[in-house]
Amino acid sequence: MIIENEQDIVDMLIIGGGPAGMFAAFYAGMRQSSMKIIDSMPQLGGQLAALYPEKNIYDVAGFPAVTAGELVSRLEQQLRLFPVQVHLEEKVQQVVKEEERRFRVVTDKGVHYGRTVIIAGGVGAFEPRQLELPEARSYAGRGLYYFISDLQAFAGQDVVICGGGDSAVDWSLMLEPIAKSVTLIHRRDKFRAHEHSVEQLMRSSVTVMTSMEVKELSGEERLEQMTVASSRTGEEITLSCSSLIVNYGFVSSLGPIAEWGIEVQQGSIRVDSRMETSIPGIFAAGDITTYPGKLKLIAVGFGEAPTAVNNAKVYIDPQARLSPGHSSHMKLK
Ligand SMILES: Cc1cc2nc3c(=O)[nH]c(=O)nc-3n(C[C@H](O)[C@H](O)[C@H](O)COP(=O)(O)OP(=O)(O)OC[C@H]3O[C@@H](n4cnc5c(N)ncnc54)[C@H](O)[C@@H]3O)c2cc1C
Repeated sequence: MIIENEQDIVDMLIIGGGPAGMFAAFYAGMRQSSMKIIDSMPQLGGQLAALYPEKNIYDVAGFPAVTAGELVSRLEQQLRLFPVQVHLEEKVQQVVKEEERRFRVVTDKGVHYGRTVIIAGGVGAFEPRQLELPEARSYAGRGLYYFISDLQAFAGQDVVICGGGDSAVDWSLMLEPIAKSVTLIHRRDKFRAHEHSVEQLMRSSVTVMTSMEVKELSGEERLEQMTVASSRTGEEITLSCSSLIVNYGFVSSLGPIAEWGIEVQQGSIRVDSRMETSIPGIFAAGDITTYPGKLKLIAVGFGEAPTAVNNAKVYIDPQARLSPGHSSHMKLK
């Protein structure tokens, strides 16, 4: 991307759309700053959305209990009070300080510019755990998928889903009325999914195959068939399969963040009391930060995000006040 005018630069470029990044984006809006969130996942919410959306969280101030999914949806409502650009399924590979108040952020899809950068990358970029077959890569996007963004895209198809967690079971149930057939294959004999969903699954028309492993994918232009084998007997079965959706969970790694020239200590970014990293103008918040006494909790990230944003505001404009004032004096809705 070529920068043609100053509008292409946002004030605060936020890497990571977990709770810390989402709250930072809201807070940037409160400080009348333009902002953009970039996240490698297809949805906002970080660990809460990827790992435990159905679980209750009990230690977020003001909520005696809230599911992780509900908290993410409330954070999204809050951040949408301001115009925010959200770039999903985009992994940040490089952050370069070109000059004071001008950072270039290179992703696997393009280039973004920010006057400051706030890294809220948690435990690193989440990516789906891949199907470990040599031919899997060649079928990616041609019958093999790791996310569902549009259920209707599977209408009338023979769909096979792999996995034993909530997402695999929920996707099977959601696709049952849409697809021609749905088969759920799980490596183990017991599902990790919520009991109620498993009960619904067993009553549905979904074909459930447990203790089965995927052995081979085949098809000319795109995926047409797959072979699965019983992990108990070794017996092989060939299934007709127009789409295979693999849900083996997620892996995360700090990955390229460790190579951006920022001081990193045991896999976390060292910050000062302003949440500034070793590179002036790059701030961090949430699980990714470290300092003496650091706790990796949502509540802590919610505190670090405003500290990072308010100090980033002063970095952009040294005349700006550090304190935002009280939101109760503002009219936001
Ligand atoms: C099962 C479980 C239960 C938990 N329960 C609680 C609880 O009860 N209470 C509590 O306080 N905490 C709990 N936690 C911890 C809590 O989820 C984390 O503290 C919180 O998610 C941290 O938020 P974050 O925004 O800093 O990072 P994350 O939630 O990890 O989000 C970071 C985001 O940044 C993205 N990202 C990283 N690097 C890149 C990159 N290079 N390019 C693009 N995107 C990138 C990632 O994809 C991710 O979406 C729990 C965690 C787990 C796993």
